[in-house]
Amino acid sequence: MTIESRYQEIQERMRRSCEKSGRGIEEVLLIGVTKTHPPETVEEGLRLGILHLGENKVQEALAKKNLIGEKGIWHLIGHLQGNKVKNAVQIFDQIDSVDTLALAQEISKRCEVIGKRMGVLMEVNVSGEGSKFGVKPEQAARLAEEINQLPSLELRGLMTMAPWMEDSTKTRPYFAQLRELRDRIQQETGLHLPELSMGMSQDFEVAIEEGSTMIRLGTVLFGTRPKPTAEFFEDSI
Ligand SMILES: *Cc1c(COP(=O)(O)O)cnc(C)c1O
Repeated sequence: MTIESRYQEIQERMRRSCEKSGRGIEEVLLIGVTKTHPPETVEEGLRLGILHLGENKVQEALAKKNLIGEKGIWHLIGHLQGNKVKNAVQIFDQIDSVDTLALAQEISKRCEVIGKRMGVLMEVNVSGEGSKFGVKPEQAARLAEEINQLPSLELRGLMTMAPWMEDSTKTRPYFAQLRELRDRIQQETGLHLPELSMGMSQDFEVAIEEGSTMIRLGTVLFGTRPKPTAEFFEDSI
């Protein structure tokens, strides 16, 4: 199957989920997750009109951007270490995985230096799994307010990953929880948090039904991820 035919099928599935939940398809942004895929895959996505790209490694994204040039809107969707922030703020247009105040402060500081205002999402660990990054739900309102105070950041919403479930409908409570948490934070703090980044290949339809505004699709769109090549995977900067 080509990426183009997969993309058409995904759009059809998105449309059906939107219809089912009384939403418009324009309310849901598709982020093409190109991690470990070669630059040619990114180019193919761009050619099809998939302008938002998700990567989880700073070095890998930089290597691809160097080959592709200034195209696309690049989202960092993976965990970011403090010592990589300086490079990350140059490379990415949005950072969707902010989960501590220290990280947010470092991003803001580095953005100030280069005169950039960075859109960010706050990652929340709704499932409580130890293997996942993200702020605990009970600490999320406070962290949101703290991020909002930082001069070079614009907090736009929340992000989460549901646990992997054989039956994808079982992910629904996690997505509902993120939406309810967002609603509650907005009420308590008066912040405006329009974005909910939730839903991946396995569970994006359920996520759309629960209010997702950004789905992050890798495998279902680009096929099985290739083994990362050293050139792109090495993350030493
Ligand atoms: C890899 C990744 C995705 C995409 O996963 P697929 O299951 O291949 O769609 C989405 N979000 C994050 C944070 C990821 O790391």
